[in-house]
Parts: sequence; structure tokens; C-alpha cells
Amino acid sequence: MIRWLPLPLLLLTAAADPSRPILSPERIKADVRTLSADDFHGRGPTQLGEERTLAFLEKRFAGLGLKPAGDRGYRQTVKLLRWTRAAARFSLDLGGATRTLTPGVEIAATSRIVGTDTVARVPVVFVGYGVVEPRLGYDPYAGVDVRGKLVVALAGDPDVEAGRDLGFGGRASSPAARTKLAEAQKRGAAAFVQIHDTFPSSYPWLQIAKGDAVPGYALDTGTVPAAFGVRGTLRNDVGVALLKQGGLDYAAAKQAAQRADFRGVELKGATFSATTTVALDRTVSHNVVGILPGTDPATGSILYGAHWDAYGENDFDPPADRIRNGAVDNGTGTATLLEIARAFSVATRPRRSVVFAAWTAEEKGLLGATWYADHPVLPLATTAAQFNLDPHVVLGRTRDLELIGVGRTPMEADLARVAAAQGLRIVPEENTEAGWYYRSDHYALAQKGVPGVYFRAGRDLVRGGLAAGERERSRYNAQCYHQTCDEFDARWDMTGAAQEGSVAYALGREVAEGTGWPAWNPAEPFAAERAKTAAERR
Ligand SMILES: [Zn+2]
Repeated sequence: MIRWLPLPLLLLTAAADPSRPILSPERIKADVRTLSADDFHGRGPTQLGEERTLAFLEKRFAGLGLKPAGDRGYRQTVKLLRWTRAAARFSLDLGGATRTLTPGVEIAATSRIVGTDTVARVPVVFVGYGVVEPRLGYDPYAGVDVRGKLVVALAGDPDVEAGRDLGFGGRASSPAARTKLAEAQKRGAAAFVQIHDTFPSSYPWLQIAKGDAVPGYALDTGTVPAAFGVRGTLRNDVGVALLKQGGLDYAAAKQAAQRADFRGVELKGATFSATTTVALDRTVSHNVVGILPGTDPATGSILYGAHWDAYGENDFDPPADRIRNGAVDNGTGTATLLEIARAFSVATRPRRSVVFAAWTAEEKGLLGATWYADHPVLPLATTAAQFNLDPHVVLGRTRDLELIGVGRTPMEADLARVAAAQGLRIVPEENTEAGWYYRSDHYALAQKGVPGVYFRAGRDLVRGGLAAGERERSRYNAQCYHQTCDEFDARWDMTGAAQEGSVAYALGREVAEGTGWPAWNPAEPFAAERAKTAAERR
């Protein structure tokens, strides 16, 4: 499906000036200030900041009259495995010359083999995009032996830069692009690295490099997943040099790898060595979950979620500022969640119950939301719709909202109508290569079939227009996203967040007061998942 073509329907709504948002930008701003203050220590799960954050959210949930829905009051325990890298050394041997790769500078990588593990001078195989898709005839591993070797892949999927859709959604990121590591592991590789490239990765290199020493997490479901050695990302110029050693030109290699008949090639004269020391322990973090019971709870529920976590406090950040406060990401969404809960708590109670969830460990791989999807406090089968608040930029009043993941659900028409009533038009996301749809908590619930629309403030500022909105978003993404500079700024105008929240509130109310069941478009894989529980929705 060609996901980047805008739906004509979405573009037809009027461009009137937006009305005043239902939610209060001032209250949202006050909560963002609190949540992103240094005494919340960057809200790192399992760190000092977690207890601060949980206590704050519990107090607010209680004040709003929400019913505790966790296993300890509002707290839902999320069991985690944590891998901490104590030491790492990496090098490439290129044509007999050893090139040491400094972790956090030229390579960002870790291992999930516990203890000290060494791979010495293993061969290197380039697998193009590393995406296996039998439906389209793609298998770069066919006839190629990668056992005990380093697998090197390009960023993105085969058509992210092809200028046309080869079956992976064109410029849009595809789910297949997320299976590369698993494929390499399945084929017996000793290690896996991706060559960084800003466009298909949609992250500047510095962001990945600075996250290099952050511990890795997974849900603790009782068993420890099969250990896999080094996995990570090479700075682009290092990857280019590595391919060159094997006789490949980076740009030409990209072209070749777009074709379904591309096969992996061993890079002659190149080897990889690594020594890593990694510790594994079990720990816990918490979602915060409260319910506003409906007047007829048997008719089901709706769910609002926002991740409370950010990147915490880290020894390896500059000593002057070790805290990544996460004011925007996701102090803003968390504060908007509280403001939506407040709006529901003072209004007439809808028929369906409303669940409010502040997720942990989104930044570790949607772990809190995934845990909830396996341990919901109300049945997912009758969770009529979900709304995720993760806005990623602070903007003043806009004329538009940006829909992420276009063409997935008939709810998009409802969203367009509800937004139009507030003077806002819906525009499709622009940077589809970023794969935003797969990068926030709604995805964990969509995979379990729960319908929803994911949207955030657009860029068409009432004051400054598109250019100003675009400038602010680019500045934030390049400099502050996931970094120490994501800090509260007293000059912020939170009207954009309030607009996004107001539309989420109004659309949620409509679903909560109704008896209908929002759905997925039939071609969506989530539709098949939803269909399994059809008998429970009457
Ligand atoms: Zn976020």
C-alpha cells in the first residue's frame, strides 16, 4: 500500500482559524514544568526519578477521583530484564590495518552475552538492507553463510530511498525493517551492525552515539531470551570505509540492494573484533493506571495513554548537565493526559469507562505498554479505542494536526470531523521514513487489535505559518530530542498540545458515549487480530 499519498478526504476540511482548545494550555504547562524539573531526575525507569514521578502521578490521579487499577494502588508492576555494559572494545581490520572504533563516537553497540565475550577477526558479510520478505522475493541471505560472522546492513528498507514503492511502502518505514537483527541472529551471525544514515534512520548520528552506554531492557516474562553478541550501529563514514575495503561503493551498493535478487557478499580483506563485558539483572518499573468508571461499564471502555519515562540521569552525559529532563518527550504528553483526565472528571460521566495509563519504559522499546497489552486492567476485546499522547514538539496554536500512520482505520474520518469542529484540519505525516507509527505506545496495543488514531500538533502555526513550525520541529529533533537540552522553557506556549489533547478528548468522549465499535481497515494486519475477539463485542 502506498501510505505516503494523502487521503483526499483529509484535505477537504476548512482552513478556518482554530477555536479555543477545550483543555487548558496553562495547566499543561505547569505540569510539564513540574515533571521536567531536575528533582525528577529525567524520569528514568528504575532510577531515582521513577519514585518521584510515580508519587506525583498517584497524587494527581487520586485528586481527580480515578479508581486505582494497578496491583499496588495505581502502580502496575512491570518486570524487566536489564543488560548493563561495563566495558567494550571494538575494532575493524581493513586490508591489514587495524582501526579501533571508539564506543559512543564511531560505533554505538552492546551485547546481550552476559560476562566477558570476545569475537576475534571474524569475517564481515554485507547483506544490503538485511530484510527478508519471501512474498516479494527478497532474501539477501540465500546461499550466503553468515555463521560466526559480522553481518552489516544498510539503514531502512529496500524502497525507502528508491523513489518508488517496491512493496515495502516506498519512503514509509515498513515493519520488515524492524526484523533485521532477528534475521541475522536466526542465521547464526556472531554480530550485527547497521550503517547509520540520517534519512532512513531519521535520527542524527549524535543521538545514537550519545545513547551508546544506556542499559538495554526487555520484559521479564520468566525466561531470558537467547543471548546474542554485538548489535549496534556504525557511524556512516566507518560503514562506507568498510564497504570500500570489500570493493563496494556505498551509493552503488544501496542501488544494488534495492533489487529482490540482491545477495549478501563477504567483504574481502575486512574482519571485525570485539570484547564486551555485560551484566544482566532483574528489576521492576511501573505503569500508573487509573479508571474513571462509566455509567454502564458493561458497554466497554476507552484508553488514554502517555509514557511518563524519559532518558533519566546518566554518568556519561556532560558533567554540567547529566539529566535528560524529557520536558517535551514526554512531559508534554503526560501533562496532557492529566488534563484530559481532569476534563473527564468534571464532565458528565460517559457510558463507557475511561482508563488513564502513564506508561513506563517507552524509550526502552514500548515496554510498559506492551506489558499492559498482556496484562490489561479492563479487557482489550471491549477497549473500544485507544489514544496515545506523545507529541514530540512544543508549538503554539496551529491550524492542523498531523496524522501518523495514514489509511489504517475508518476512525480517521471521525478524527477529521471532530478536528474540523475545533477549526483544525488533519494532514498526513510527512516523514514517513521515520516509522513514527511503530515508535510509540499505541503500536503495542494496535498489535493486540485495539483500534486507535495517533496524531499530534501539525506545523502550520497560526503565528508564523508552516515555515516557522517546520523550523521549530527540525531544531528540536536535531538538537534536543532525547538529549539534555530537552528542558523546560518558560517562554513555551502549550496551545498546540492543548489542541491535540482537546481533539483526543472530544473524539474519546464520542466513543465513550456511543455504543459502536471503531475498527481497522480490512487490509490492516491489526484487523485480523481484532476479529479474533468479535464475539465479545455485541
Ligand atoms: Zn515519546
